[in-house]
Order: sequence, then structure tokens, then C-alpha cells
Amino acid sequence: TLASGYLLSESAAAAERKRLYPPSADFPDLRKHNNCMATALTPKIYAQLRDKTTPNDWTLDQCIQTGVDNPGHPFIKTVGMVAGDEESYEVFSELFDPVIKERHNGYDPRSMRHTTDLDASKVTSGMFDEHYVLSSRVRTGRSIRGLSLPPACARSERREVERVVVTALSGLKGELAGRYYSLGEMSDREQQQLIDEHFLFDKPVSPLLTSAGMARDWPDARGIWHNNEKNFLIWINEEDHTRIISMEKGGNMKRVFERFCRGLKQVEHLIQERGWEFMWNERLGYVLTCPSNLGTGLRAGVHIRLPFLSKDPRFKKILDNLRLQRRGTGGVDTAATGDTFDISNLDRLGKSEVELVQLVIDGVNYLIECEKRLERGQDIKIPSPIPQFRK
Ligand code: ADP
Ligand code: MG
Repeated sequence: TLASGYLLSESAAAAERKRLYPPSADFPDLRKHNNCMATALTPKIYAQLRDKTTPNDWTLDQCIQTGVDNPGHPFIKTVGMVAGDEESYEVFSELFDPVIKERHNGYDPRSMRHTTDLDASKVTSGMFDEHYVLSSRVRTGRSIRGLSLPPACARSERREVERVVVTALSGLKGELAGRYYSLGEMSDREQQQLIDEHFLFDKPVSPLLTSAGMARDWPDARGIWHNNEKNFLIWINEEDHTRIISMEKGGNMKRVFERFCRGLKQVEHLIQERGWEFMWNERLGYVLTCPSNLGTGLRAGVHIRLPFLSKDPRFKKILDNLRLQRRGTGGVDTAATGDTFDISNLDRLGKSEVELVQLVIDGVNYLIECEKRLERGQDIKIPSPIPQFRK
């Protein structure tokens, strides 16, 4: 009785506060902001959504906190909001939908359907000139249905994700067989070495992650699983329940994508065998924490040396038109140092895995062509923009 009396008065107090203060009194100050959430959030949408909650008691204010606290990002335009659970995307769709549309090149989640295609044999000319391309990587994320996402999960749920996934992964065989390394049991040196080799996520210093609540309890239930070759890796409980990665040195993107598809299908099968499934629906594809990763969740990218092109004033426009994103080689929060960049697809939704990898292959080959022309003192052209989705 004591406990329930306390809970009752607690929720009564919250209700009273809401009655006293209309949504307009809670509307965040977004005047200095440059992220998709700040562009889409109007006082009207906020008023519709402020007092709604998902079945896990997650609120709109919790979804947008990271975008309110981080007006911009030094290197990329961010989304400015995250989901706390699968239902967030439905309950708060009045805000998520326009954000998704802006972020994914006009994809309209109300009227469009997303398709999955993991048939790597369809990809053509996937071997890059290794004079320019130093490494190739394809990653995605997958969430376990029924458990809250990293911004919202309880410790117990986070540990359950780790248990379910690690148990399933022990079923991987042959070239994919490997083992799990828990962050809590790793020495600082081992951890730093994996980060420096680009295998492991960075420590959660990014304010985007910390404001979203994703670094709570660090490093509890976080870790990395990898095969012996370290070319198939799974991150557990970083920004998503899982991140699944295929990577290797050099320019063989086709081989990297083949291993990615093979491994991903096996992981899904092993998870399903144990009665779990991934969050997915036909409008949003695979459901992940950040709206930027919906759909395929796929980021296919290379580390590439472009000393001439990167100094050319047309570089940014060329990347924009090819729907490519540039990052520093230490990850999304690092500046590009020197002539080497992480170049990857910008969109994840509305195009299949095969289409996105092909877009990266064609785009990166175009960049290499430009680089070679500039080396020879020849002129380059800005390609015409990749068309938006049909309305
Ligand atoms: P993600 O989108 O996978 O989270 P981040 O930008 O956060 O990527 O980077 C995570 C790590 O992956 C970093 O250590 C980064 O250097 C590494 N990485 C990303 N792309 C490549 C690549 N093409 N080759 C080698 N390492 C890469
Ligand atoms: Mg990352």
C-alpha cells in the first residue's frame, strides 16, 4: 500500500504539472539548432505529442533530448532524435515521419514500402583500385523485438540482449566461428588496441550518445564478438542492440558484402531458432535507435586517399549529388586528418542493400576517376544528382 500510494501521488503530481503548464510552456528553444528534428518540430506537433507515452512509458521529450542538447554536429547534419522502443516510431509518427523524410532523400514512410535484398551476387565491379582505397566495410544494425532500445532499456533488458545474442552467435561455424569479448573483462590496453585498429566502437564520449542516455551503466553488458580473422564482427549494446560488420583491408567491396550477407542471414537464423526476432516492418524496414539507420541500417564505406579531390572546391557538391557522406577515419566524431576519408552511403531507407552497395561502388569509382584526372591536370565534372524517390 505504501508503495502504490507513493506511485499514485507521483503520477497525480505529473498530471497536475501538465495541467498547470500547457505544451507551449514546455516547447524547447531550438533557435540555434541545425538538425532534422529542430526543422520538423512545430508547436502544434509538440502539443499533440507531449503527453503521449509508448507502452514502455517513453515520451517525446525523451526522444528529442539529444537533439535539444546538441544544436549541431561539427561534421555531419544529425537527426536530433532517437527512439526508445519499437513503438516510438508509431506513437510519435507526426514528428518521426517528417524527420525520416528529410533524412532519407524524400522517402515517405506513410505511403512507401521498403525492400530488403541481400543477394550479393547482383553487385558489379566491386573491386576498387587499392592505390586509393585502403579498407572496405559494410555494417548494419539489428534490434531484438520486445526489448527497449539503448536510450531506454533497463540494465536487465540490456543484459538480456547480450545473453540472447551471444548465445545465438556461438552457433556460427566455419570461417565465421569466433568468440565474445566483454568490455568489462577487457583491459584498457586491449580495448584501445581494438579501437585503434578500427574494430571496436569508441568510448562513449560523444555528447550525441550521452545525451540520448546510451552510455548509462557503461560498460555493463557491452562487448564485441568477432571471428578469428577479425573480418566479421558484432558489437553488442552500443548505439543499437547489435551492429553487424564485415570488413577487411584493401578494396574488395564485393567480397566484404558477400560475407556480410552470408553472416547476417546466419545470425538472423540463429536468433530466430531461439524464439526471438528482429524489429521490422514494411514501411520502416529494420527498426533501429536512430532514424538515420532505419530501413537497411546499412553503411557501406571505404577509407580512401583523395589528396587532390579533397582540396577541390567541388568535392562537397560531388559527394552530395552522389548521396555519399564523408567522415574522418576515426569514426563519425572525428575530423578528417590529412588526405584520407571514410566515404559511405548517406541513405539507408527506401533502397535495398544491393542498391546501396552498388551506389557506393559506383560513387567511389567516380571519385577515384576524378582523383586520377586531377593528378593529370585534367578537369572534372560535378555529376547530376541521384534522383529522389518518385512522389
Ligand atoms: P558506424 O557507422 O559503423 O558506427 P563510426 O563512424 O562510428 O561508424 O566508426 C566506427 C569505427 O569503424 C571507427 O573506428 C572507424 O574508424 C571504423 N570504420 C568505419 N569505416 C571503416 C572502413 N571503411 N575501414 C576501416 N574502418 C572503418
Ligand atoms: Mg558509430
